[in-house]
Amino acid sequence: MCPSTILGYATRAVGQPLEPFTYDPPKFGEYDVRVSISHCGVCHTDIHAIDDYYGITNYPFVPGHEIVGYVSALGPEASELKEGDRVGIGWQGRCCMQCEWCLKGEEQLCMDIVQTATWLPYGGFSSLVTVDSRFAYPPPDGMPPEIAAVLMCAGITVYSPLRSFAAPASQKLGVIGVGGLGHLAIQFAHALGYEVTALSSSPEKKEQALAFGADHFIVSDPSSLRELAFAFDLLLCTAPGKFKWEPLLSALKKKGKLVLVGFPDLELNSTDLVAHQLSITTSFLGNRATMREMLSFAHAHGITPAVELMPMSQVNEAIQRLRENKARYRIVLVNDMNGTRA
Ligand SMILES: [Zn+2]
Ligand SMILES: [Zn+2]
Repeated sequence: MCPSTILGYATRAVGQPLEPFTYDPPKFGEYDVRVSISHCGVCHTDIHAIDDYYGITNYPFVPGHEIVGYVSALGPEASELKEGDRVGIGWQGRCCMQCEWCLKGEEQLCMDIVQTATWLPYGGFSSLVTVDSRFAYPPPDGMPPEIAAVLMCAGITVYSPLRSFAAPASQKLGVIGVGGLGHLAIQFAHALGYEVTALSSSPEKKEQALAFGADHFIVSDPSSLRELAFAFDLLLCTAPGKFKWEPLLSALKKKGKLVLVGFPDLELNSTDLVAHQLSITTSFLGNRATMREMLSFAHAHGITPAVELMPMSQVNEAIQRLRENKARYRIVLVNDMNGTRA
């Protein structure tokens, strides 16, 4: 069953606050599910999209792509789910299923990637969302909804590269940034057997970084980094913004890898990069198989993002906390819109 209109929160122009927004249910394909939303995380990517940082935002824009809710309607081909099932949905809500990358099972690289976003036409800061059922993942039984919500984007973003670049268990990893992504990367990396060093510009993050499972903590100023010469096989950069890359690159072993998962500014001197045969590589979300694997791995190893819960009606306050870098460490909105459950 579907309501005649849906209530969400939309921004109507670049960088503007969200306001209540009513819209018609989007068209419903044969593989689609409608999901009645109980929780939705707030991700930096939502804020980038509100600001049209990527140049792909259509307004009015309803953000939100760390969704947990209940299946309220299914298309005839959505055979793996049933009404009432609890599901999680991440940034990718569909794919073309036809391009070379989708056929290889790497849907996160779909040639039509912009069109695969869960927030098209409208995202998860809402009472209801419509996606392809093959991108709706039942979380493990007993996993709290706010935990599952955060794993749908932040979780897969850090788990996927840690899995694909993993080598022998003694591999030395530096996690740059102890924030929304970094605190999860530390937990996953510890559980995967890496020797983990957390690098942060904030000395006060030390205690928490160690509590999340880091073996070591380093304040990432140039002089501390110089002492770390040739320390790491892998550096995972989870923080956005500008960095002094040269001291970070000098902390990599020869042939080491710098892996980017956010969208930091990349301006650097290539001397160490070339002379030490370093690589800069990236990782974007993860495919459906890795998403399922990540959820069960997180559950089995007690991976627990630190979450602040806020009512969805306070979405603008939540976005402001994230903009000011005050969230510890992720914010999840709880749907408090009455009478809109399908
Ligand atoms: Zn995200
Ligand atoms: Zn495709």
